[in-house]
Amino acid sequence: MTDPHPLAAHGHWQDVARATGLLGADGTVASTIFAEMSALAERTGAINLGQGFPDAPGPAHLRAAAMAAVDAGHNQYPPGPGIPALRAAVAAHQRRHYGLEVDPETEVLVTAGATEALAASVLALAGPGDEVVTLEPFYDSYAAVIALAGATHRTVPLRPGPRGFRLDAADVDAAVGPRTRLLLVNSPHNPTGIVLTPDELGLLGRAAAAADAVVLTDEVYEHLTYGPRHVPMATLPGLAGRTLTVSSAGKTLAVTGWKVGWVHGPAALVTAVRTVKQFLTYVASGPFQHAVAAALDDADGATARYVADQAAALAGRRDVLLAGLRAGGFVPVAPEGTYFVVADGAPLGYPDAVDLCRELPGRAGVVAIPVSAFCTPGGAVARALASWVRFTYVKSEPLVAEAARRLAALGD
Ligand code: PMP
Repeated sequence: MTDPHPLAAHGHWQDVARATGLLGADGTVASTIFAEMSALAERTGAINLGQGFPDAPGPAHLRAAAMAAVDAGHNQYPPGPGIPALRAAVAAHQRRHYGLEVDPETEVLVTAGATEALAASVLALAGPGDEVVTLEPFYDSYAAVIALAGATHRTVPLRPGPRGFRLDAADVDAAVGPRTRLLLVNSPHNPTGIVLTPDELGLLGRAAAAADAVVLTDEVYEHLTYGPRHVPMATLPGLAGRTLTVSSAGKTLAVTGWKVGWVHGPAALVTAVRTVKQFLTYVASGPFQHAVAAALDDADGATARYVADQAAALAGRRDVLLAGLRAGGFVPVAPEGTYFVVADGAPLGYPDAVDLCRELPGRAGVVAIPVSAFCTPGGAVARALASWVRFTYVKSEPLVAEAARRLAALGD
């Protein structure tokens, strides 16, 4: 590797680039596969089923609430922990949906999306010599922030089988140990679309308790499930006292650009996270916090209707995409939640999904992401899932249908 520019020779960026597989042998930093594939979609006019964000404007009642908040002058720094109305709405949401008792004064922190909640939690609670355990494949920010913290990333592989991607007790035992400080769980899971079963959650919870580790749980897709019910880790017996729960308005309310997230858990842990968070962004998204608070409180039921409609519409698009993938020769795993589906592209003659994704715009007019982008670079899971591809179906119904038609034509 050539030395980096002297002005950039220090700091943590190389750790992040290495952990995410972006540091080239010559010291250059590659752009992410997400950026490469989005650029490819742009260049070729292919349908972009790569990055997961809705192509709709967002629910009308939520947009109206945000405009009202701007007009009412809520345009300065909100309070550091988040506006009281949103913290109260998060606590009420957790009680209403899951029976969790959360003190909005001391146990809730509003963040710049789930991403900041996760980053601040990892930076606050793990450091050099500590291990952070995640499932693998994993959402790509996890590896980056674990590297920033100087901690070691260990993983529990999700293996494809007849019941979809599932985890194995022996793998959990092998990954979680005395150095584990954090067990970072994600269910419903990006990218595989699985919803962890109560048994799997129990396995993870018991391992965390045995290691005296904190459970950090990323539940941003909590309301996007198709069949299995989402069970928050914090509702498992004895686990609330060691669990930080993260969620965000981005997925539930289909406004990924607003970056309103939150974390709740025991006051001492939330205080630790807030101590770091206040020097990352300090605060974010002032007027949007007001809009999200009103939407979570849902006085007139508009949010409940929106979320139910959204989940039903996504279930339909999932089925359309699954049918197209199967007809095209892929072997997909039907997702139980999220708005992603992963499929094995090996039957199409591509042992490496990176090659397939680079050729798919030309062959089918569709852009997708190789699952290896969600794995430790060069690791065992990246190798095991080398031929797997992730597609999103959080796009308009006609667009998903057209993408499915194009993918199906690969099988002609
Ligand atoms: N966690 C997971 C599993 C995600 O898929 C995403 C968004 N793609 C996030 C966190 C980030 O959420 P936010 O936009 O609220 O930061």
